[in-house]
Amino acid sequence: MTAASAVTRLDLLRCLGMVVALILHAEGGHSTSSFDSSNSGCRCLTGQSCFPSADELSYFNNSLVGGRLILPRPTAWPCYQPHFNADSCTAVENNFTDGFFRASNAGSMQSWNFEDDGEKRCPLETAKDSHAQCDQGRVPVYGVQAESVSDIQETIRFAANHNLRLFVKSTGHDYLGRSAAPGSFLLWMHKYRHINVSMSFVPTGCSSSYPPKPVITVGGGPQWAEVYTRVSVDTNDKYVLVGGMCPTVGGAGGFVMSGGHSPMGPTFGLAVDHVLQFQLVTADGKVHTINECQDPDLFWAMKGGGPGTFGVMTSVTYQLQPSPTFFTGMKIFAAPALNGTLLTPQQIKDIFRAFARQVHIFDENRVGGYIEINPLIGLDARMLILASEADAKQIAAGFAAGFAELVQQGVLKISTQFNSFDTFFAWKASDPSPAVEIQGGRFEIGTRLIPLSALDHPEKLGEALAQAAAGVDDFILYMVAGRGVRERDDGGEKVSTTPAWRRAVFNAEVINAWSFNTSDQGIAEKVAGIQAGLDILRKAYPDSGTYFAEANLEPDFQQALWGKNNYERLLKIKARVDPDDLFMCKQCVGSEKWDASGNCRQRHSY
Ligand SMILES: Cc1cc2nc3c(=O)[nH]c(=O)nc-3n(C[C@H](O)[C@H](O)[C@H](O)COP(=O)(O)OP(=O)(O)OC[C@H]3O[C@@H](n4cnc5c(N)ncnc54)[C@H](O)[C@@H]3O)c2cc1C
Repeated sequence: MTAASAVTRLDLLRCLGMVVALILHAEGGHSTSSFDSSNSGCRCLTGQSCFPSADELSYFNNSLVGGRLILPRPTAWPCYQPHFNADSCTAVENNFTDGFFRASNAGSMQSWNFEDDGEKRCPLETAKDSHAQCDQGRVPVYGVQAESVSDIQETIRFAANHNLRLFVKSTGHDYLGRSAAPGSFLLWMHKYRHINVSMSFVPTGCSSSYPPKPVITVGGGPQWAEVYTRVSVDTNDKYVLVGGMCPTVGGAGGFVMSGGHSPMGPTFGLAVDHVLQFQLVTADGKVHTINECQDPDLFWAMKGGGPGTFGVMTSVTYQLQPSPTFFTGMKIFAAPALNGTLLTPQQIKDIFRAFARQVHIFDENRVGGYIEINPLIGLDARMLILASEADAKQIAAGFAAGFAELVQQGVLKISTQFNSFDTFFAWKASDPSPAVEIQGGRFEIGTRLIPLSALDHPEKLGEALAQAAAGVDDFILYMVAGRGVRERDDGGEKVSTTPAWRRAVFNAEVINAWSFNTSDQGIAEKVAGIQAGLDILRKAYPDSGTYFAEANLEPDFQQALWGKNNYERLLKIKARVDPDDLFMCKQCVGSEKWDASGNCRQRHSY
């Protein structure tokens, strides 16, 4: 699109504008707004009469964003008639589970269901059916491929002036689909990318007595794989960065503004514990550099208050940590003794009980990683320990001892594997966490942080986990909290994430998946299953909370995601930097003022 001539682009925009208007007219519009579009309490969506005209879009495209107005499309779009393209379709067929491939298409979300708008979908599975159509679904019809700060500023101004529903997207990993909504306008950050490593960084505006620190500054689109590689190459593996597990998540997107957990968390804490500076563009189009010396309030808010809320982040500067000597991969499998048999509910419960009794060993030894438990595989633990292989073997033996009875009963067989790696990313590249990195599927998740105090009553913990897991397709325990996160507790002075992180031992995740043709009702049942699982954990540990980026809908989201004290402060900061809620997303700060669609203000709030 960006290479098209101005005339062609204008024609295409006119044509597409008409087509979209016709589609919206025929279908009663994609909007789920409860108010008329002319009502000032609602955002203006594609296809509504208030939406910018083709001439306005053309002027914006040619004069303000250098021809970078784009028409995002669902992933399987090139596989459908009348826009079938053989090469592009083959690429989709071969790569639709690849997170890098999906991130490189403006309209693709990492989970296919977040491209679907109810039963308005564009599934790859039906592309060859001559009667099937590809529906735009939740994918924004228009967007900007940002390549400069000016592109970001102009897009923000355009969206504000036209009262558009603006969404920022880096990679599309959001677990509640908050990088898109039907009829919205997209600011796509994938092509805005810069990375810089410095050994002597001082935050802007801080005094000369501030000790210079080793850092990496990341802006826009780079994904973790690229960021880790730069740290490795530029520091000759002398430093590590506390970042995410999945190589395709953005290094400078939603991850860090959510809090950011890592398998190195049990040693180093959360990613936000290592942030020294952000740059962002706020809703008024102004660029800000914020840190502990400049606007410390907004700096605090951005460290856990949630992405898509305070502005568009254009860069984040992370402090690097001296590299540990050891990166030992430790796999522990407690699999069904009889190959191919499914474990019974009682046997699964026994595994959860044994896990609950033994997990203190991982916590005490700062073991990070992911533990999947289900009837098909039993227990599958893929862990990282920043200690020697000899230490890892001892720790694994202690943990596995808790399953001895189940082994003696002929229920489980235990096996272990240990491998030494030179770097964190080398461990990561050995693919230790297939269950955690699912792209191109249709599913939702939900998580709850489990407090350390739960280990005082392992029977209750085992029971609660088993019950929560019983009604869902899969269950994963994330050892990403623990001692390193608890030790950095400063009473919420420095970061705005839920204080539950500072009391947590691990994060428990429930997962339900469905198919391209599951009905709305079927999906609602799957999501209800997730909620039922979460409810068991909420009731068992009511004083805990939920990680912003991996939460399903929470009944009291302000308390669950931030705690009421943090939330009051976050609301005030939000009102200061974005008084008109240009940045608004589901279950984000201030979202209670908006209806469920996120398109219209609640009647009492305007
Ligand atoms: C497979 C997988 C693995 C994951 N692993 C981890 C993990 O190890 N640790 C962890 O903590 N989390 C993990 N997550 C959660 C992930 O960190 C969040 O979903 C995060 O928000 C993704 O950010 P993104 O920018 O890559 O994705 P996007 O979907 O593009 O963005 C997510 C949110 O951030 C907003 N946003 C993106 N860029 C910007 C920007 N520049 N300025 C303002 N807002 C922006 C979007 O509007 C959206 O609300 C994982 C998620 C998945 C799907």
